[in-house]
Amino acid sequence: MTIGVLALQGAFREHVAMLRRLGVEAVEVRLPPQLDGLDGLVIPGGESTAMLRLMGLYGLDEAIRAFPAPLFGTCAGMIVLDRERLGLIDLVVERNAFGRQVASFEAPIGIEGDDEPFPGVFIRAPWVADAGPGVAILAEIDGHPVLAREGRVLVASFHPELTDDTRVHERFLQIVREEQGVRT
Ligand code: GLN
Repeated sequence: MTIGVLALQGAFREHVAMLRRLGVEAVEVRLPPQLDGLDGLVIPGGESTAMLRLMGLYGLDEAIRAFPAPLFGTCAGMIVLDRERLGLIDLVVERNAFGRQVASFEAPIGIEGDDEPFPGVFIRAPWVADAGPGVAILAEIDGHPVLAREGRVLVASFHPELTDDTRVHERFLQIVREEQGVRT
């Protein structure tokens, strides 16, 4: 299994490290041809405006729209995938709205199907303003979705790659395995 991590900007190294820790081949993606043959793609946190600008410059916006395999967006990566940007998940995300009072914080997250809470690291996190009916909400904080899945697309408003807890990445790899099963 080979997973790409969009490496234009932001916390891509941490995702690569975590994927390698899970025994997966992880490659940095900076140009559209590097998407060929990947089993999944991670879009990391960072600054969504900068990331979108660079994606447009390199043609990665169109290439990612055409990418057929699972996608996992964290924080700015979640913003990039929403209905109003790449349009790959039926969510409307409001930037920087989560921490209007405290810009960044840590909070335990109860994730559907997991017994132990997940250590949520939120850094100027996006706020899910609207989720379409096809989107499964896997975790919430104070009634606000923070982990969601629609088909082959998983998004988190927090940063699992900045913790030692591999469970959200393992969840993504499970989606990748399911899709591989569907496609072969
Ligand atoms: N606030 C950033 C944005 O709007 C996201 C922050 C993050 O990825 N940690 O893109």
